[in-house]
Formats: sequence, C-alpha cells, structure tokens
Amino acid sequence: MSIAHILGFPRIGAQRELKFAQEAFWRGEISEAALRDIASDLRAQHWALQQQAGLDFVTVGDFSWYDQVLSTLNLFGALPTRYGFDREHTSLENYFTAARGNAQHVAMEMTKWFDTNYHYLVPEWTADTQFDLQKNNALLEEVQQAQQLGHQVKVSLLGPLSLLYLGKVKSGLSSPLELLHKLLPAYKTLLISLQEAGVEWVQIDEPILVLDLSAEWLRAFEPAYQLLSTNTPKLLLTTYFDAVAEHADLLHRLAVDGVHIDVVRAPQQLETLLKNWPQGRVLSLGVIDGRNIWRADLSSILALYQPVQSRLKTLQAPLWLAASCSLLHVPVDLDVETKLDPELRSWLAFAIQKLAEIVSLKHALDGNKQVAQEQFAIADAALQSRRTSKRIHIDSVQKRLAQTQASDAERNSPFAERIIAQQQRFQLPLFPTTTIGSFPQTKTIRQARAAYKRGELKHLEYLEAMRAEIAYVVAEQEKIGLDVLVHGEAERNDMVEYFGEQLWGYGFTQFGWVQSYGSRCVKPPFIYGDVCRPEAMTVAWSAYAQSLTQKTMKGMLTGPITMLQWSFVRDDQPRATTALQIALALRDEVADLQKAGIGMIQIDEPAFREGLPLKQKDWTAYLENAVHAFKLCSAVVKDETQIHTHMCYAEFNDILPWIAAMDADVISIETSRSAMELLEGFSDFAYPNQIGPGVYDIHSPRVAKVSEMQKLLQKARQLLPDQSIWVNPDCGLKTRDWPETIAALEHMVQAAALLRASC
Ligand code: GLN
Ligand code: ZN
Repeated sequence: MSIAHILGFPRIGAQRELKFAQEAFWRGEISEAALRDIASDLRAQHWALQQQAGLDFVTVGDFSWYDQVLSTLNLFGALPTRYGFDREHTSLENYFTAARGNAQHVAMEMTKWFDTNYHYLVPEWTADTQFDLQKNNALLEEVQQAQQLGHQVKVSLLGPLSLLYLGKVKSGLSSPLELLHKLLPAYKTLLISLQEAGVEWVQIDEPILVLDLSAEWLRAFEPAYQLLSTNTPKLLLTTYFDAVAEHADLLHRLAVDGVHIDVVRAPQQLETLLKNWPQGRVLSLGVIDGRNIWRADLSSILALYQPVQSRLKTLQAPLWLAASCSLLHVPVDLDVETKLDPELRSWLAFAIQKLAEIVSLKHALDGNKQVAQEQFAIADAALQSRRTSKRIHIDSVQKRLAQTQASDAERNSPFAERIIAQQQRFQLPLFPTTTIGSFPQTKTIRQARAAYKRGELKHLEYLEAMRAEIAYVVAEQEKIGLDVLVHGEAERNDMVEYFGEQLWGYGFTQFGWVQSYGSRCVKPPFIYGDVCRPEAMTVAWSAYAQSLTQKTMKGMLTGPITMLQWSFVRDDQPRATTALQIALALRDEVADLQKAGIGMIQIDEPAFREGLPLKQKDWTAYLENAVHAFKLCSAVVKDETQIHTHMCYAEFNDILPWIAAMDADVISIETSRSAMELLEGFSDFAYPNQIGPGVYDIHSPRVAKVSEMQKLLQKARQLLPDQSIWVNPDCGLKTRDWPETIAALEHMVQAAALLRASC
C-alpha cells in the first residue's frame, strides 16, 4: 500500500481569514486570544480537508504567523539578538516586530524563497546567536491540537542546514555552519519532544540540496543527520523545486528513513536516485505540481510510476505520493470559482483538488483504480479539451513571434549617446528624485473598485474617481517637490492582474489568493493561451496624468518576465515562448505611450532575478531569453525616450552583466535594508547606465530620517559617479498610508537637496 501525503497546505485560509485577523490584530482591533482562535480554527479546517480527502497523514507545522523561516527561528529562540528580546519567552508581539519593524526597530531583511514569489525573513547570524527550544513549544502545541482532533500526524519542519544556509552572517562568524554545533542540540530536543508526543514521522525540509552547494555544506549533512536520527521520530528528508541527483550517494548514505523528491520539476533525477536505493527506505514522489494550477494528467503519471512502484517493492521500500512541494504556492479551492468560464475551469486544480488527485493516484497504484475512476475520467477529459481548444492557439501571434528579428531588440544608439539626448530633453538636476510607481492604495480607492466590480459604480463614474486620485497624487508630488512624477497606479488592483485583464490568453480567478509575505497575498492570473494586446492598456491614464503637470510623467508597465513569473504559466509550450509573446504585446504599449508624448517609461521587472533557475548550469538559457524579452518590448523607442526598469528584494550581483545587457537607461533597485550592500557589485562591475538605489524601506511604516537617507546616499556616492545616481524609495508605496508617505518623501527630497548643495 502506498501512502498519500502533502508537504504543506496554504495557511492563509480560502477566504484569507488569517490575513484579515492578523491585520485587525496589528491595528489593535482584536485581541491576541481572538487571533489565536482564528488561527487554530484554520489549522483544524485544513487538517479536516486532508483527512476527508483520504490522505494518510495530516501535516502539522506548516502553519506560521508570518513566515516559516521566522517561525523556526522563533521556535529556537533565535530571533536576531539586536532586538534584545527575552529568548525563552518571545511574545507574539516580539515576533511581529521582527517581521515588520516598529518605531524603534528595523524589520528583518526579507527575500524570495528559492524561485518562488513567497518571501521569507532572513535569519541574522552573529557569534552570540544561541538556540534553545522555547519554553512554550508552539510546534508541539499544534501537534497536540491535531492529535486531540483525532488525526494521524506528520510534522513538517525546516531542516537545520537549510535554516542556517538561508540566513546571513552579520558579525563574528565566517560561515553560518559555525553555528551548527549549537543548533543541532536544539533540533534534537525538539525532535525528542515530538517523539514523546507520539509523532511517528517528521518531514524535515532541506530544500537547499537542490542548489549548487559547496563541499563544506554537503559534508555537514551526514554527521548532522546521524545525530538527529537516534531516539527521534522517523525522518523524511524532503527536497523540492529541482533535482538532487548529483547528491544520490550522499542521500543514500544519510541516516534518514525516507527521501522526498520533486519529479514534476525534475523527473529525470528519479533514475539516478533509484540506482542503489537503500532497502526499506521510503521514497516520496512529488508527482502533482505544487507550483502550478493545471489539472494533472493522472493516466500518464500512473503509467510512469507503476514500474517504479514494482522496483521499490523488490526493495521493500514504501512508495509515498505527494505534491511536488508544499501547496503554499497554489490557491486553496477551485470549487468556489463559480464565475470562471466552465471550459477554463475544467483545466484547473487548486490545493483541495490536488489532494484528491494525490489520493486517486494512490488508489490506482494500489490496484483500486475503480475507486478513482471518476477522477481519472475528469482528468482525461480536461487534457483532451486543452489539446484541442481553439482558445489556446492564435496563428497571428505565433507568426509575429517567428518573424521578429535581432534588430527589433536593439535601441538606435548606445547609452552614451542616448543619455545626452535625454538630458537635453528632461533637464534634470543632479540626484533626480522619483518614486517607483504606486502611491497608497487607500480605502477609498479599494471601495471604488469594489463598487465598480459590483456594478454599483458606473464605468464613467469609476474613471472619474480614478482620475481624481491621479490628480491628487500628482498635486501631492508637486508639493513635495519630486523631479519625476508618476500617476500613482490607483487604477491597478495588482501590477500583473491589471495587465493580464487586458491581454488575450490570460484567465482570472476570484479567490485564487496565494501568500506572498506575511499577511500579503497575491492573486496570480493564469496564462492558458497565446498572448496578445487587443488595445492600449495604460496610455489614457498616463496621458491624463501628464496633462496635469509641467514635470515629466513616467509611464508605468509590468515587464514580460514579471508578467510570467507572477502568473501561473501554461505548461504546454516553453516558458521562454510565452515570455516573448508577452514582450511583443508590451512593445506595442511602449510604442503607444511614446506616441502619446510620454517621455519616460518604466518597465518593472521585480521578478527578473526570481525566475533564475536554481542551478547555475541553467542560467544562461534563462537569462538570454529574459534579456531578449526586455529588449524586445523596450527597444522600440527613440533615443530621447528614457527607459527605466525597477527590480527589488533580491541579490543581483551575480547577474550584473545580464542586467547591464537589458540596456535600460535607468534602473531603480532596493538597497536600503541591505545598507547599499547591493551597490558594491554595481560599482565593481562598473555598471554603465544610471541607477536609483532605494534610500528607504517601504515595507515598514517607520519614517526614515533625512540623515539616514543622506548617509545611504553618501555611501552610494562612494560607489557610483554622481551623474548616475537617482534618488527613490526601495519600491512602490501602495501598502503605505498617506501621512507616512508624504513625510518620507519630503525627507527624501531634502536629502537629495542637501546632497546637491554639498557638491
Ligand atoms: N511600479 C510598481 C509599484 O510601484 C512596482 C512594484 C514592485 O516592484 N513590486 O508598485
Ligand atoms: Zn519593487
């Protein structure tokens, strides 16, 4: 008999209950007890779903108040020492302070979880970092909650090596590995407590095994797991997002009771791992895509893994079936999507539907296919319909792409010449100030949009309301004294969805929320067919905004890679092809903006780095396509039109030549949380074009002081020529409130003015 399980379930709730409760708690509207009750109900609901679907375990430990890395740190009393919290009794308030910052404390740094759009908080390692299991062991409490509800529990826990690796050394250490000897006893204590609570299996996530790890890190695995494997529950070591075939020998030797691999992303690794598979060891196969929303081809999966099951049988090695990774990365329930076109809907499966897929495969593999007959029939029909639907293939789009030429992706002149034409046109001062695009998405804006969607606000009334918002944003920016203005993006619900809604080939859900960070969720559209732009998308808004001011108005678009990365992407053609289709659609928009007199156009690519394959050997192919896509959409403009791009919350130093190859005239990047560290690479590489290093963190309501911004700018000046430096926040301001936004931007404009005066 095979075992059906999952690595994790979305924690935020089908109706984003956790999000709303957290935010109410932060506003002081509900008590901690009320928040805890809501969280506890959600966990119970999610376990019930897993049990009802027929999984053999419910997974406990996937819940988190903000982020699983932060929660693991907290469990071990290892929040950054700079906060000075009581390590043994860290309160929920302490926890949220580390995540979000407050008037006294800067929040922890946040970065993307592998190649996903989920963000984790980066542990801060110092020589005095200590690890001790918290007195109130939150994980154990969750286990007990599930047990009291009568569930068979499997615990999910981030592994010690991944935890260390994902953190940053702040001081006093040459490698996070120096902390391993302190961390392991804490893990051991935790595992023993789980053993005593009757937990049979702990799923211990070591996703770093899919990265290009150094020998030093690889060497640490064997002794660490040797120590963790005695007198503790059985350990299922889980890997996901890519292959671990190169570590087959290590994995075979490792003192664990099972290994999980992702055979959706990396099916080819299976053969290597099966060679010399240890007798009796569990192999958990991630066969259902945890990163995408397409209904699985159950018949093909069954045919593929039946022989594997037979081979494992001869080794008395149990086969477990799961989704490739935690279902954190997909929406909760397709059944609530009643407004979705029935044909499109028949092609999809969300977290709850994926539970049924896993269980159906289990039944079929165990020889009970008749139990799963209906699921198999639905899957076969969906596949057939996707292969033949006329909504998927548009000949003109494919023809246009085939006919694009290399010269379509090149500007007319090199940057050195363009910048002269641009300087003449815009007459900007040294250290020009601007913002990244969005201004506060106020309650009024959201209410207007909701009323419009409900039909309570007529089309023209909605346009009127948004124009009023734009006029307000423009007037405020003039008052503040910014040099280059934006229209504020009031009309956009989300930077990807807004464009997707206006492009052919994109589908939408009503409730398809996926956690991005903390209480923030995104609702990624899905790309099911060839993409094209039937009509202009942003031109009227930008032109209106420009008409209100003598200053330069920057047009604002979302770039092709971000459109791809933050959508669920079709799996029936290469991602690279879809990226270029989107690029061509955006190219037409860029041309139309220029025609309407918009002189600066920003094409945001915050997800450019995120799309990078996890293994370096795959980088070139991805980057060549990503750069080409950017150039294809931007190179349509004249020399005197200035192309901006924006990227945030990621490391760029290892791909600087590629960022330079995008040839944007100006790039704005997030740098304030990392104290301009990112700029060092741009300086070493002698990045040729202009750069706007973010001078304050927009994730925190804290208003940075003029002196802090000045200090950051002085640091930037040591690294870059004065003529290259722009002054802007780290990212868009849509999550902030107006008072703090105005105060921060005033400080920013003052900092730039002081700097100019000092030159
Ligand atoms: N222009 C977008 C904004 O300001 C960019 C957002 C982002 O980088 N994620 O909101
Ligand atoms: Zn950004």
